[in-house]
Amino acid sequence: MHQTHEARRDALRARLVEHELDAMLVTDLRNIRYLTGFTGSNAALLVHSAEDKRSVFCTDGRYEQQAAAEVGQLEQVIERQCGSALTRRAAADRERFRRLGFESQHVSVDTYDALLEQAEGVELRRAPGLVERLRMVKDESEIEAIRMACAAADRALAEVIEQGEVRAGMTERQIARELESRMMDNGAAGPAFETIVAAGAHSAIPHHRPTDAELCTGDLVKIDFGALVDGYHSDMTRMLVVGPPADWQRELYQLVRTAQAAGCQAALGGAELAAVDRAAREVIERAGYGERFLHGLGHGVGLDVHEAPRLAKEATGTLAAGMTVTVEPGVYLADRGGVRIEDTLAVREDGNEVLTLSTKELVTV
Ligand code: ZN
Ligand code: ZN
Repeated sequence: MHQTHEARRDALRARLVEHELDAMLVTDLRNIRYLTGFTGSNAALLVHSAEDKRSVFCTDGRYEQQAAAEVGQLEQVIERQCGSALTRRAAADRERFRRLGFESQHVSVDTYDALLEQAEGVELRRAPGLVERLRMVKDESEIEAIRMACAAADRALAEVIEQGEVRAGMTERQIARELESRMMDNGAAGPAFETIVAAGAHSAIPHHRPTDAELCTGDLVKIDFGALVDGYHSDMTRMLVVGPPADWQRELYQLVRTAQAAGCQAALGGAELAAVDRAAREVIERAGYGERFLHGLGHGVGLDVHEAPRLAKEATGTLAAGMTVTVEPGVYLADRGGVRIEDTLAVREDGNEVLTLSTKELVTV
C-alpha cells in the first residue's frame, strides 16, 4: 500500500511542477489519507516537487504510533498545529520552498492568517483542487472498496425488504436505522451519509431527513443511502411502494427509469460531463417534467460521498476510465411524491460497470 501512496505523491509532484510550485501544503484529511494512508483526525503533509524524500508529515501526539504504522517512510513531525508547523519548516529552508501551494478551498481565514505568520520568506499560493483532481480517477483497490460498500448496501436493502421491515406502520426513522445497522452487519464501518427514507409526499423532497411519520398504504418510499468501507463510500437510491402502485406512480417510475438508463448508457470514457446529464435530462424534458428535475444528474464518489466530477448541465470536462460516479435523475411533484433512481458506477475502458446491483424494478411491499 505504501507504494501506492508514493505513486500518488509522485503524480502530485508532477502537477506541482506544472503549476510552478516548489511544494504543496496539504491540510484536507481526505487528501492526506489519499496521499499517505493516514486515517487520524489531525494532520498536514508537505510535499516537495523535487523528490519524495523531502516530503514531511505532521500529526499530534495522540497519533504518533498510528502514524508510524500507517505513514511509514515519510519523515514525521509531532506537533498540534500541523499546518503552521510545516509552513515554519518550509520557511526554515526557504531556498527550496520559495513558492508553497496550499489548499485554499479548505483553509479558513483564521488558519490562513496563522500560516502567513509562519511563512516568512515563502510565498503562499492558492492551489485549490490539485489532489481532488488526482482523486477523480480511481485505481482498482479504490474501486474494490467502493464495490464492497455498494454490496453492503445492496445486502442491507434486500434483508430489510425480505424481513418485511418496510411496511405500513413503520416509521421513516425506524427503516433508516435498520438499514444502517444491517449495512454494518454486512461489513460497513458506518453509513456513507445520513440515510434518507422519504415516504408519501416526503418523497418529493430531494434530501428529506427521516421523521417519525409512519408509512401508509399507497405511499411511494424513496430510500437513498450508502455504506462506508475502508474510507470509501457508496450511494444508491431505490423506490418502493406500499401496496399496489397507482397508475401515476408507475408512469412516473417508468419515466425516471428510462432517463436513468439513458444516463448510464451515456456515462462512458471520453463523454462530456454535460452531455451525460443531457442524455437523461432530455428524456424527462420530453415528458414535460424538465422543471421538476431539481438537481444535476450525478457526482463522483470516493473518499468523499460527493466529489469531482459533477455530472450537470453546466459542468465542463469529460469522463475517463477509472472515474466512479452516480447517475441519479429524479422527478419531484410537490405534495404528491417523487421518484429518484440512483446507481454508483465505475467508468471502464470499454463501457461502465454498475456497482449497485439492487433491482431497479419498482418494489411493492
Ligand atoms: Zn444518493
Ligand atoms: Zn448521490
